Amino acid sequence: MKTCHTLLALCLPLTLALSACQDKTIEAKPPVEDNFVDVYQSINTDDLKKHIKILASDEFEGRLPTTVGEQKTLDYLVNEFKQMGYAPGNGDSFLQPVELIEMTADPDMTMTIGENELVYKEGMIASTSREQSKVELKDSELVFVGYGVNAPEYDWNDYQGLDVKGKTVVILVNDPGFENPEGDKFQGKTMTYYGRWTYKYEEASRQGAEAAIIVHETKPASYGWSVVANSWSGPQYGLVSKNGNADRVAVEGWLTIESAQKVFADAGLDFIAEKQKAKTAPYNKHLGLNASVTVNNSFKKSISHNVIATLPGAETPDEHLIFSAHWDHLGKDETKDGDQIYNGAHDNATGTATALVMANAYAKLNIKPKRSATFLIVTAEEQGLLGSKYYAEHPIVPLAKTVANINMDAMSVLGKTKDVAVIGMGKSDLETNLEKAAKRQGRYLVQEGTPGAGYYYRSDHFNFAKQGVPALYAKGGEEPIDEATAKYRKRTNVIVRGCYHQVCDQFRENWDLSGIQQDAQLLFEVGHDLVSSNDWPKWNTTSEFQRK
Ligand SMILES: [Zn+2]
Repeated sequence: MKTCHTLLALCLPLTLALSACQDKTIEAKPPVEDNFVDVYQSINTDDLKKHIKILASDEFEGRLPTTVGEQKTLDYLVNEFKQMGYAPGNGDSFLQPVELIEMTADPDMTMTIGENELVYKEGMIASTSREQSKVELKDSELVFVGYGVNAPEYDWNDYQGLDVKGKTVVILVNDPGFENPEGDKFQGKTMTYYGRWTYKYEEASRQGAEAAIIVHETKPASYGWSVVANSWSGPQYGLVSKNGNADRVAVEGWLTIESAQKVFADAGLDFIAEKQKAKTAPYNKHLGLNASVTVNNSFKKSISHNVIATLPGAETPDEHLIFSAHWDHLGKDETKDGDQIYNGAHDNATGTATALVMANAYAKLNIKPKRSATFLIVTAEEQGLLGSKYYAEHPIVPLAKTVANINMDAMSVLGKTKDVAVIGMGKSDLETNLEKAAKRQGRYLVQEGTPGAGYYYRSDHFNFAKQGVPALYAKGGEEPIDEATAKYRKRTNVIVRGCYHQVCDQFRENWDLSGIQQDAQLLFEVGHDLVSSNDWPKWNTTSEFQRK
């Protein structure tokens, strides 16, 4: 099969060989004596489907960390890795314990701002990260701080001249570049880390604010209010910290845009006009109103787990390429009528399944690569990338020996594509490896379609990047392979988007998984290059990340 690419006619007698010939992708991938081509071809949609269906089944109860759903998921993953012949990645264990704190704010709360009584989940949402059974915000002075950005490299500080100690800061979502893409600061529509809510709460905490409230808007946030309401209510998880998060703002919250407009009107201001001012220059303004809210908080500590499995390298087994995917999702909501289970089929049974089929592919290679291929299937991504954060801060493989990270999250169920979307394009020379493999599939690389949504900061590879390990996150793009796929894609995309973090994110028999197969083959090859080489991928010099 490895030579039949020379002439299609030579291959015709053999149907098996024919399929290989039609796939121009695998022409010359070395080493020729290896079974790489066979293994590459063996990555199939049936295996993907099997894993996705099981992980996203009702039996797994939405895979919420620390629940029975976690136990079932861990058992399944560990068993799969064992069967493939993988070694435990953490001493003699396939698990890395991650100590989480689970906090649940009592939904019986009202936030008062000026004359406005804002209703929980309808007009606002609030919670605390502090290990306290009750936090009280009482008549705290409200200050609008624009985008809440303090970025010396852009000479931009929305907190300039302010002392926000004890005060409540109101912050716009995304960064100033989103509304002012022509401006010379930030990166236009491409979101920087300053646009992420995580950053906004971190900065407000550094400034000493008592509370930080972000104004939700669908476009710049890239998701609707229901996503905020769902993901910020019920149990919230954090990593256990020594000081009980005493250095965080007491109250972290969100307002709907309607609530914000009312509040600004009460302050005699027009929200839209204030927003305009905040996009061109650093901006803040006292609103002359006070905010009050009491968050009754119950919390408990519990242990969740990352799964880690290794296929030791033949020559330099201490050097690891780490593939990551998150196994967790949102669990179930027993207060809901009808379907209560957030199955998380797309998010992220697809990525976990991709990891499993790729792991299986590496195990089937006749020639063992030089370096180790390690699969890290992390917990608590949905609660703020916690499993990967814990791993990156407590690495089992020293970061200096971690060649790179390749992440798989919410893989495309929209069929095969001609393009490969790189999330956060232009960051590292891993894209050179990716481009080479993509070309052999007849595909080309593009910047993802929504760089404004900041997806590079929204999945687990970000925690590797933060620690300086080059990290790649790429998947099927937007140009369907043919007409039929285009039609299917149009129909399915509406459902997939509409079901983001909803109970309807469940496995569908009509899903075309050939796009994931294509991406699994692509990333398998990229990874194979890396574990077969002595090279150390590097960040581009313009990247905000560099090896430490
Ligand atoms: Zn998610």
